[in-house]
Amino acid sequence: MALNKAKRATLREKFGGRCAYCGQPLGERWHADHIEPIVRNDWLKAPRGPDYPHRDTLENMNPACPPCNIDKHSMSLESWRDIIQRSNDVLQRDVSTFRRAVRYGLVQLTSSPVTFYFERLAEPAPKEAP
Ligand SMILES: [Zn+2]
Repeated sequence: MALNKAKRATLREKFGGRCAYCGQPLGERWHADHIEPIVRNDWLKAPRGPDYPHRDTLENMNPACPPCNIDKHSMSLESWRDIIQRSNDVLQRDVSTFRRAVRYGLVQLTSSPVTFYFERLAEPAPKEAP
């Protein structure tokens, strides 16, 4: 669905002009991500029409920075979250510079669960001390 100018402006402000996922401010170039993908997660096939055209709605869209949208590709949120969650394991396995940075305390690993920006916004604000 091609968004008209007004709908695109509304979508851009859905989370205060920030990427729904990482929370970085959206630049001039940003993507309208389909939260639930409209194509199956199979990029080996030739380009074709959407597998789930009924998901092509404004309600199923989030504003995303290009790196997040490209990384998420046609994954569901939970599949993508699992992949992001494994980032430390992949870096430890594959990148000697990263392992060295950890050994020398330049990088600290955490096992924090991956929380998307729009999820952090939805959390209740911490109570102020009386
Ligand atoms: Zn992002």
